[in-house]
Amino acid sequence: MQSAVAELDATPLDRARDILRRTFGHAEFRGLQAPVIAEVLAGRSAMAVLPTGGGKSLCYQIPSMMRPGLGLVVSPLIALMTDQVAAMQQSGVAAARLDSNIDPAEKGEIWRRIEAGELDLLYVSPEGLMAPWMLERLAQVPLALIAIDEAHCVSQWGHDFRPDYRLLGRLADIFPKVPRLAVTATADARTRDDIRAELRLTDSAEFVASFARPELILSAERKRGAGHKRVVELVTARPGRSGVVYAGSRDNTEKLAQALRDEGVPALAYHAGLERQLRIDRLEQFLQADAAVMVATIAFGMGVDKPDVRFVIHADPPASIEAYWQEIGRAGRDGDPAEGITLYGSADMAWALRRTAERDVDEAVKQVQVRKVRQLYTLLDGTGCRAAAVRRYFGEEGVEACGQCDLCTGAVETTDATQQAQKALSAAVRLGGRYGRGRLVDHLLGKTKDVSDHEAALSTWGIGPEFSQAAWRDLTDQLLFEGLLREDPNDGRPLVGVGDAEAVRAVFRGERRVLVQTRAEAPAKEARKGRKSRESRESRESLALSPADQPLFEALRAWRSGEAKSQHVPPYVIFHDRTLAEIATVKPTGRAALERINGVGEGKLARYGEAVLQVVGEFEG
Ligand code: ADP
Ligand code: ZN
Repeated sequence: MQSAVAELDATPLDRARDILRRTFGHAEFRGLQAPVIAEVLAGRSAMAVLPTGGGKSLCYQIPSMMRPGLGLVVSPLIALMTDQVAAMQQSGVAAARLDSNIDPAEKGEIWRRIEAGELDLLYVSPEGLMAPWMLERLAQVPLALIAIDEAHCVSQWGHDFRPDYRLLGRLADIFPKVPRLAVTATADARTRDDIRAELRLTDSAEFVASFARPELILSAERKRGAGHKRVVELVTARPGRSGVVYAGSRDNTEKLAQALRDEGVPALAYHAGLERQLRIDRLEQFLQADAAVMVATIAFGMGVDKPDVRFVIHADPPASIEAYWQEIGRAGRDGDPAEGITLYGSADMAWALRRTAERDVDEAVKQVQVRKVRQLYTLLDGTGCRAAAVRRYFGEEGVEACGQCDLCTGAVETTDATQQAQKALSAAVRLGGRYGRGRLVDHLLGKTKDVSDHEAALSTWGIGPEFSQAAWRDLTDQLLFEGLLREDPNDGRPLVGVGDAEAVRAVFRGERRVLVQTRAEAPAKEARKGRKSRESRESRESLALSPADQPLFEALRAWRSGEAKSQHVPPYVIFHDRTLAEIATVKPTGRAALERINGVGEGKLARYGEAVLQVVGEFEG
């Protein structure tokens, strides 16, 4: 009786909070979750841009459970759906997915549940949803809402355009009364406008959270020479942790994974060219492991919700700042400190620009994409706080330096090398774009092998004895990044020529200065070390685990691992490390105390309460 009265007085948001606590075991809404949920509960459409780990899924899961009818979730990837549905079912929510992998008998059962009104959530792919027979059948059932996950896929200005997503605009006409919620983690202002236009959300509220990810420690370095040595060095310096290494080609993922395994790292390769079952097995292996390194192309990632990824290393740079933030963002989803390390080179930039130029798209789109490539390299090769640069790129104002990236911790010095730049540019002019970078440097040093009489007679031959070979290489890199020199790929034997004519003239006239960066190696290493110890301290603090509680924590993890194996789900779907750490600290002796732990909702209490209490009891007793 009492609870019925309370129910009557409660606002929709109070009831949503109640579900957050009872079903999901979280104490409070985070960031913009509450206003977004309130908007959808009021029956209005909206767009929400929340950072990775910001809790986007609850924004549509809770309203789907509260509003009458079925909540439809459009998601681009089967892996993403599988994981979310498994997590929902663990929490006792009636959720299912319909995709091409579901066998007919199961499909029939899912439709029966949809039509009987037994399902709260149904995950579908865009092309699956837009199939005429599907729309017809769905028109017969009441819908609570339609959520469009990874909504940036709708925009060609974004970084992950999927033509299937374009069809989703029609949902506005087909289901005019159903609120639609578009959610994404990364979209700059232009992409956001485009998403809203495409999905017909121009009159709807837009919620944009800060793009800050304070748990991420960013760094980037220019590639030195070829090969995998640096990547192996970076990974082996981080033993016993899970990480993702992104490589630019399928072949490279295999080779890098092998190089890492040779050093004893449990590394797996992953790319779209692998046989399907192998991909599934490796993904599962990675998700199940407490420490594993996935070496992958960008085919791997969307929907990989492993919360304890401690580093993402780009062995080859990402395609844009959006892609950077999305890919790096897969580290540290549990909120504990994690690292994003990017290796990049001028050849990568030249390749990206060339690929963009060759794409079969409108000139306007091409121009935007060229700018995106340039913006990425300005960020990677820049001198200001990296995290702040990303946030400004996404349109945030009043952003402060993060204080923890490699540039904030200050290992970069700049020196004026305008005079040397003039020499290098003159040499490039004289050589007429016929040679590669190595030959240009040799020319400046007067060390060209078998030099022709013609070349030796040029006024620029041997003009630069003041710089070492390495210093000239750095400077030409710099000139390439600034667009003062340009690299013509020439089938893998790139030729260096002069870049933007106006800018080059400005350098010759001395109106434009060229500053070269020297990243002091030793201090950088020191900073890394300092950071590492601080990091492990922080992660211990945030898990709040005293050494005395460690054995119980490990016992709980062992129990979870057995449970996960027998159910064929990733361990974190059962309980997060954080939840287990809290249990190990609090040592609840009864169900009521256990339910107060963050991450323990009613469903999980019913399912695992006894088992967990037993593990705790064995330690206490
Ligand atoms: P994303 O926005 O990246 O899709 P998810 O929806 O997967 O994020 O949520 C990320 C993690 O944060 C999940 O493990 C989820 O359980 C947790 N989470 C979401 N909302 C809350 C909350 N209000 N309080 C505590 N944890 C939350
Ligand atoms: Zn910074």
